[in-house]
Amino acid sequence: MTPFQYTRANDVADAIKQITAEPSAKFIAGGTNLLDLIKYDVEGPARLIDISHLPLGRVEETDDGGVMVGAMVPNADLAYHPLIEKRYPLLSRAILAGASQQLRNMASTGGNLLQRTRCFYFYDATTPCNKRAPGSGCSAIDGVNRVNAILGTSESCIATHPSDMCVAMAALEATVHVAGPAGTRTIAFADFHRLPGDTPQRDTNLDPDEIITRIELPANGFSANYSYVKIRDRLSYAFALVSVAAAMEFEGDTIKDVRIALGGVAHRPWRSPAAETVLRGQRAEAGAFESAADVLLRGAKGFGHNDFKIGLARRAIIRTLGQAARGTPQSISDKRIR
Ligand SMILES: Cc1cc2nc3c(=O)[nH]c(=O)nc-3n(C[C@H](O)[C@H](O)[C@H](O)COP(=O)(O)OP(=O)(O)OC[C@H]3O[C@@H](n4cnc5c(N)ncnc54)[C@H](O)[C@@H]3O)c2cc1C
Ligand code: SF4
Repeated sequence: MTPFQYTRANDVADAIKQITAEPSAKFIAGGTNLLDLIKYDVEGPARLIDISHLPLGRVEETDDGGVMVGAMVPNADLAYHPLIEKRYPLLSRAILAGASQQLRNMASTGGNLLQRTRCFYFYDATTPCNKRAPGSGCSAIDGVNRVNAILGTSESCIATHPSDMCVAMAALEATVHVAGPAGTRTIAFADFHRLPGDTPQRDTNLDPDEIITRIELPANGFSANYSYVKIRDRLSYAFALVSVAAAMEFEGDTIKDVRIALGGVAHRPWRSPAAETVLRGQRAEAGAFESAADVLLRGAKGFGHNDFKIGLARRAIIRTLGQAARGTPQSISDKRIR
């Protein structure tokens, strides 16, 4: 580990001032991803700007019936917050399917959005990796790519975004509030994470001198019919091989509205408006779920070791939609600790 300076930010304006003054600095919130990256020589910031004490730790109702979540709210507090458990149980389930209780106590909401891929080669600084060292090549495409992406890949990178929380936030159509030297702005969740293209070093559309301040959840939390299913190698903790967040609203016997997002399969949470259109106005039956899965996975491509993910994702989509429709969200993902 190379030496670095450590300072604390007093408020959001101070955090922006500090990062603008030293662009090679990094914000640190819970530190559960950044410190690992420093130890593995993947990141080497000259300064860590501690933002964990900023007054962004509240979960509050908004005037239009939604909920505003401060970027410093720990993942565990968010999952167990009464408003989230009652109105956004899909989000609560997704968070609790991630990491371990100790990690969820430390990890912040903002940091979870910005955690980096778990591609094996990204963490091995002795191997070529376009995300870590642009232009060096991608070791995963012809390497051990069991955990890598099947959708939205490019010739430069086949990494996945590893978050569980973000899959639910994508399905719920959250909005990310950010602040920077030019002022504040909002980014729709669908536009926050990027596909790798030929710039895989950029995971998101957040600028390096911007800070996430809050995440806003719209009023509809789909609290009656939802399910989050996470398929992984072990239950204690492991990143998703494939995960599915599904939420529905019914009008009589037919699906009035539906959201479905996949994790573990692409560089960002994967949604397909066309797949959701297939389901709207249909009865909640296996045939409709299979058609939606086919549309969601259109263009899916394996790279050898991860070919199995295509069939796995199809089965997981059908299962999750079925659970959501029946109002039986319970799945092997649940690791609730009281
Ligand atoms: C063993 C292990 C298992 C895990 N399993 C899972 C899992 O199954 N599912 C899952 O979803 N996650 C999992 N995680 C990841 C964990 O959820 C993330 O590490 C965590 O959410 C990151 O939050 P943090 O506050 O610790 O971020 P930090 O490590 O502090 O920061 C991460 C990045 O975000 C930046 N940053 C942080 N906050 C802000 C902000 N407000 N504005 C701008 N930049 C910011 C930092 O500069 C840094 O680049 C696991 C982690 C570990 C170590
Ligand atoms: S998939 Fe992306 S992160 Fe993994 S080695 Fe290739 S370029 Fe690096």
